[in-house]
Amino acid sequence: MDFDVIIIGGGINGAGIARDAALRGLRTCLLEQDDLCGATSRWCSRLVHGGLRYLEFAEFGLVRESLREREVLLRTAPHLVRPLPLLIPLLAGARRGPATVRAGMWLYDLLSAGKSLPSHRMLDAAATRREMPGLEVDGLRGAAGYHDAQVRFPERLVLENLLAARAAGADIRLRTVAERVLVEAGCVSGVLLRDLRRGTTGTLAAPLVVNAAGPWVDRLLGSLAGQRQRRYIGGSKGTHLVTGPLPGLGASACYAEAAADGRPFFIIPWNGMTLIGTTDIAFDGDPGAVHSDPAEVDYLLAEARRLFPAAGLSRDAVHYSYVGVRPLPAAAGKDQAAITRRHQLRHHRNLARGLYSVIGGKLTTYRSLAAQVVDRLARRSGRDLAACSTHREALPGALADPVPLAADITARTGLDGAVAARLVGLYGSRADAVAALVARDPALGASLGSAHAIAAEIVFAFEEEMATSLADCLMRRTMLGLEADLGAGVLDGALRVAAEQLGWDAARCMAERTGFLVETAALRRPLQR
Ligand SMILES: Cc1cc2nc3c(=O)[nH]c(=O)nc-3n(C[C@H](O)[C@H](O)[C@H](O)COP(=O)(O)OP(=O)(O)OC[C@H]3O[C@@H](n4cnc5c(N)ncnc54)[C@H](O)[C@@H]3O)c2cc1C
Repeated sequence: MDFDVIIIGGGINGAGIARDAALRGLRTCLLEQDDLCGATSRWCSRLVHGGLRYLEFAEFGLVRESLREREVLLRTAPHLVRPLPLLIPLLAGARRGPATVRAGMWLYDLLSAGKSLPSHRMLDAAATRREMPGLEVDGLRGAAGYHDAQVRFPERLVLENLLAARAAGADIRLRTVAERVLVEAGCVSGVLLRDLRRGTTGTLAAPLVVNAAGPWVDRLLGSLAGQRQRRYIGGSKGTHLVTGPLPGLGASACYAEAAADGRPFFIIPWNGMTLIGTTDIAFDGDPGAVHSDPAEVDYLLAEARRLFPAAGLSRDAVHYSYVGVRPLPAAAGKDQAAITRRHQLRHHRNLARGLYSVIGGKLTTYRSLAAQVVDRLARRSGRDLAACSTHREALPGALADPVPLAADITARTGLDGAVAARLVGLYGSRADAVAALVARDPALGASLGSAHAIAAEIVFAFEEEMATSLADCLMRRTMLGLEADLGAGVLDGALRVAAEQLGWDAARCMAERTGFLVETAALRRPLQR
């Protein structure tokens, strides 16, 4: 056998499972058809949260698990997951009155007893206006304030899980499609794969396969020859808008009820800008071809304008938008918002023993999901594996206090304070390795043109972080492609560094530029009428 387990899907769930499996001693391989974190895990609300609204559906177990995981992530990935204050406006005539919200807050605190974040507080109308001066909505009676957490870049959370998996011995193969799960005598025997970069096909043998393909789960199962499949996933698409900083929002996120349909609705300070979302619309198509409808953009803008009327929100204020497909468990006829966000693990024992599929789940609970999956793999393989350690083992870049490292980098390399702050803010303790490139070759301290980004980051993305294209580097490593200008300010600088340091010729530079522009243009398309 080539491996003990093959994991299909390099989103947060596949990455978390790969890390846990490799740390516990399983010979692990992960296949991802695209770049890492190319799908749902990046196009989400970026909240690491207990899921206050799940209390309404009596999902106490899910809320407790999510709140516990929130704490684990704040501890093991403090450079990526940070506390986020939120306010819920209390409005006259709203479906959820102050007593209901207060009861929810109380229960949320109870379920997160022992947490590191502050407990909730109730604000009157005047205090609410002081904290969120732009909230000028009719009938404002006050607000409930509480804390959850935000992962600014799930892309880097996925990356760091994969780096940890690789350091523990896992074989991570990006741009490699699992074409078909192979079965012999009713048991999984491996995967037929296609390497998109080399243009080759091949097989890998393993007695265990985990289908962590998110919204593609059913498609992968459909590849099992001759089998008629039941449906496990009922997709739901969700759109977000990214605008500039919203005047009067302040440091807290606003969590409200949409006037149009009563759906939960967030306005979140994010990456120096504002994230507005989300929609929740049944989606049955190809997850790779999902797009936002103009009506979704109008809905989100109208709801945000209702709460922040003076902010001047129009289509022109939107830098870009993004859309993802929630891989929810299929639940025909059920209201999208009411479908459980709890994950399920299916063992397809009638189809192929040893084949498991991950159905649903949340970004927040990926680590506990991974632990449960690897426990099942251990039972199935009959192996006596090491105990799960991911609840205490920090991710590779974990750094609780960025200030001393930033000062040290400035002292050692002469890099500007704002550059050093960017490096530790993004790479955590691994900023040290980026700075080491500058110490070796001071030319790599040169600015890329904007956002305090430097040349060394481009080299680091390709040499240390598994990037293979300019889009990987700007969209899912350095994160410069998610700035307000969608990376336009660093594009020439990044290509210059790639030509000088990585040896790209003119044709490669041209092709990479085009690939990157195609990817970013898709984020602007829903805004064009
Ligand atoms: C709009 C929206 C908002 C959300 N907000 C939040 C939030 O704030 N907090 C939260 O906790 N959760 C949130 N979620 C839920 C969360 O994002 C998802 O549950 C989670 O990201 C799913 O991760 P995944 O790894 O299962 O799927 P994905 O991230 O989609 O990863 C699956 C991967 O499998 C790959 N793949 C598919 N088929 C193959 C194949 N044949 N071979 C190789 N690779 C393959 C795909 O390319 C993809 O990269 C939100 C989701 C959406 C859509």
